[in-house]
Amino acid sequence: MAETLNLDTLSAAQIASGIAAGEFSAAEVADAALAAVEAREPEVQAYLQVTPELTRAAAARVDAARAAGEPLPPLAGVPLAIKDNMNLIGTRTTCASRMLENYESPYTATCVARMLEAGCLPVGKANMDEFAFGSSTESSAFHRTNNPWDTERVPGGSSGGSAAAVAAGEATLALGSDTGGSIRQPASLCGVVGMKPTYGAVSRYGVVAFGSSLDQVGPFGRSVSDVSLAMNALVGAGKDPYDCTSQDCPVDFLEHLNDDIAGRRVGIIPAFMEAEGLMPEVKRAVELAAEKLVDQGAELVEVELPHLDAAIAAYYVIGPAEAFSNLARFDGVRYGYQEPMCATLAEQSSLSRAHGFGQEAKRRQMLGAYLLSSGVYDKYYYAAAKARTLITRDYAAAYQKVDTILMPASPRAAFKFGEISDPTQMYLSDMYTISLNIAGNGGISVPVGLGEDSQLPVAVQLQGPAFRDRDLLMFARAVERGFAGADGAPALSVAPGFAGKGGERA
Ligand code: GLN
Repeated sequence: MAETLNLDTLSAAQIASGIAAGEFSAAEVADAALAAVEAREPEVQAYLQVTPELTRAAAARVDAARAAGEPLPPLAGVPLAIKDNMNLIGTRTTCASRMLENYESPYTATCVARMLEAGCLPVGKANMDEFAFGSSTESSAFHRTNNPWDTERVPGGSSGGSAAAVAAGEATLALGSDTGGSIRQPASLCGVVGMKPTYGAVSRYGVVAFGSSLDQVGPFGRSVSDVSLAMNALVGAGKDPYDCTSQDCPVDFLEHLNDDIAGRRVGIIPAFMEAEGLMPEVKRAVELAAEKLVDQGAELVEVELPHLDAAIAAYYVIGPAEAFSNLARFDGVRYGYQEPMCATLAEQSSLSRAHGFGQEAKRRQMLGAYLLSSGVYDKYYYAAAKARTLITRDYAAAYQKVDTILMPASPRAAFKFGEISDPTQMYLSDMYTISLNIAGNGGISVPVGLGEDSQLPVAVQLQGPAFRDRDLLMFARAVERGFAGADGAPALSVAPGFAGKGGERA
């Protein structure tokens, strides 16, 4: 009897090479991925839309290419989850909002197209916080997503569906977007690797904008090498003519992945390690990671980012101001939900917005509208812009002394649904991630194991200078290696409640 392929233990590279070698077909991979989704999705709810026809059509293309003797692309047959703020023809792009509930993608985002050109099989569109506002995926207008490590807890956000899909083995890779931490924080809470590349490394064309000067697309995977392969696909094809902020970064992210880090300088920010709200088990994880890097010959150097205190405040000025401008297009005329039976255009626009947007999306836009109003603008927006310059300079000064900075990604492990209801408390979830978006640099969250108190995934974050994302992957790999089991596998894999589930069906 044919056994269903177990994708939980296969890396992206192993899937692609297994297909190339004829050990299994892309169609079998598609079946296995869809069987896993069917078995696991009721408890996880990572997806807003699963797209079996697209998964199978992509698999058929891979199998046909192999049959024709064509060389296979590097991610041939790798199952991919796509955050629902990214357009893909043949799917809706809802941003987890009533506003875009029926919005059919008119074209495919460049980041998605590049992953598909590299051979990925699109499994579906992943749940998220509405329009990417949030840190728990609780603000999705449609349903919650459960953390695969404890389904009573949040997966983090805003790319919570993408992170949960990878952690539950419902995809091998996923795409997310990170405006203030939305890749790194859910990766940390779900025990997977999540990378926010340097601003400009990945095209934003076809990704619904939140804060255009902060947004960046990046990959999730269960290992640093899987994420490096995804980075090659996302970045390797070079500048996208449709996004003038994208840049050529002609590097192979795998090339130095396993390099020795002896003599490299790793920065630690002492004030960060004493910050209020940092849980002892996360602090311990960072200290342990530092020890593992020192064991591999790295040198620890204390650095300061003196203006970092201003980062959250600056983000909650710049982010909402840009979001207010970007979301003005959802007025029920040009885009989005249209309120029926209105007497005037003004009434239609106002009721469409009132009924189309959820609470957090409204809060952000009202904040942005206020902050950009005359008289107020000078006081807050200018101050935030100045803080941005100072924070960027702080980083530049720190990177004169060190090659990377090691810190927490999230101050704590996954929290329970409803546990954080005060928006300002929720905003503190991003205390370690936001400054990076303000400066535009790259960062990555790497799981190190289960926290000694919570028994839930905990992670560390590595940050690096702009366009040194390849080095960042090398340091991330060094952390991963430091925490690997005897077999060399990363500390965490598919969450135990889900591993193997759905594989029993032949
Ligand atoms: N949690 C942050 C916010 O709510 C970051 C979101 C994001 O990166 N998209 O804005």
